[in-house]
Amino acid sequence: MTTNPTKPVKKLSMQQRYSALTRDIDWTPSYVTEDQLYPHTTYEGIKIHDWSKWDDPFRLTVDAYYRYQAEKDKRLYAVLDGFAQGQGHLTLSDPAYLNAMKIFLGGVTPLEYQANRHFSYLARHFNGPGPRFAAQCQSVDELRHAQTEIHTLSNYNKYYSGMHNFAKMHDRVWYLSVPKSYFDDALSAGPFEFLIAIGFSFEYLLTNLLFVPFMSGASFNGDLPTMTFGFSAQSDESRHMTLGLEAIKFLLEQDEANVPIVQEWVDKWFWRGYRVTAIIAMMLDYMLPRPVMSWKESFELYFEQQMLNGLFPDLAYYGIRPPKGVEQAIWEKEHLSHLVYHTFYQFSHAANLTTSIPTKEHQAWLASAYPDAFEQFYKPKWDKLEKMAAEGNRYFYPGLPQLCQVCQVPMLFTEHGDPTKLCQRHSEFKGEHFNFCSDHCKEIFDREPEKYVQAWLPVHQIYLGNCGGPTIPDVLAWYGYAEGDSGEMLGNVDHNNWKKWHAQVDDSVGGRESVEVGGAAEAGKGA
Ligand code: FE
Ligand code: ZN
Repeated sequence: MTTNPTKPVKKLSMQQRYSALTRDIDWTPSYVTEDQLYPHTTYEGIKIHDWSKWDDPFRLTVDAYYRYQAEKDKRLYAVLDGFAQGQGHLTLSDPAYLNAMKIFLGGVTPLEYQANRHFSYLARHFNGPGPRFAAQCQSVDELRHAQTEIHTLSNYNKYYSGMHNFAKMHDRVWYLSVPKSYFDDALSAGPFEFLIAIGFSFEYLLTNLLFVPFMSGASFNGDLPTMTFGFSAQSDESRHMTLGLEAIKFLLEQDEANVPIVQEWVDKWFWRGYRVTAIIAMMLDYMLPRPVMSWKESFELYFEQQMLNGLFPDLAYYGIRPPKGVEQAIWEKEHLSHLVYHTFYQFSHAANLTTSIPTKEHQAWLASAYPDAFEQFYKPKWDKLEKMAAEGNRYFYPGLPQLCQVCQVPMLFTEHGDPTKLCQRHSEFKGEHFNFCSDHCKEIFDREPEKYVQAWLPVHQIYLGNCGGPTIPDVLAWYGYAEGDSGEMLGNVDHNNWKKWHAQVDDSVGGRESVEVGGAAEAGKGA
């Protein structure tokens, strides 16, 4: 664009500036072919005839983008400072609440960072300038999410266990391999599959199931910083959802041959993502001292109503049907959280979080939220474990569980339709035997066995001697755990500190300011 210095420069509208940013700086290559410039967008079989048909889901210029984000960061960091200075952590509902945040920091935050990296790869490799710029914005968002989450939770790390060392734990700890392997699966797929996996299946179909419960859980349990972080991420999330929806529509509209490919990805990635949300189900139903809503309610609202009844009828126009695993997921909503927490209860000696038998009050809430399942199937289990604990035999499972080769969750799910029968499937590949938690994980494996035989399964790796040594203490040391990170919640370092700190608050006339908080040394953390 050249300007004539004698004429006054007319200010461009937002729309013109957006078009200048995305379209005017694009060019047609002259000394390389388009395939040489964008080598990754054909091998998946997706056919794009006209990249200019991409309808930009949002129109932001660079200066507008950074202005919004800076404004949000300013607000967030003001809250973080105020909370830290006022010893706000003492106003949480209970230190056990932070177990949910340990899952978030070890399970979700590193995925934000991976999303940052991979969206920046898409920002280089898509042929069209519209999707490239949308991917660029999301890439920067994801980096900000990773950073703001780490900053938000770092204050708790000064006083409580299980949050130090989260990046190493993400790479090593058995249950964190569930979210990690999910994202690794997406990162090692092609660019369009990644877009459907993360942009559509995760950001559009499932993100509300993850973020809304975490953020309302935070607000119900006195965690103002996490709630503020949630608000700060929310406007980004709505852009990400719009991008996911635009991505799937664009692929479907470009060529009919794309429809079956996209359908297979929707089937696969719904189930992969849904299996990761098993951890959210447990968090929501068992780990919030003040519960917000049950997993069942949340699934009905955010998935069945908004996606299944809201979105999929629209996608039917393109020939897309709801994902294959949906019927089973709907059936499992009654059972999921109970099965998962029951497993974590028995394995928390090896997790970076603590568990305990749900209180009588909490069990009454579970019974009212799950009138058809809790008292019949799960209360008897808790009664038995409670009796053992009362007799001084707090139960921890002494062995290692079989893991699903695809989702990497221990084999804890039941047959579709029968909550009393554990489900296990298997496949043979090149003379080896592989196990799965469900028909859908088996289908995912059978479609791409070469990919999933490479899975880094924590239990197998322990048996192979790759995780620090042959004993449980060896493995826990390799995970980087410190005293207080694991085990039974009652009588744990955090629980004891909490009682001591609150006794000081109650004794002191001056209120919270006079509380002396021991911090890292007292919590027994070396790292
Ligand atoms: Fe994010
Ligand atoms: Zn599985």
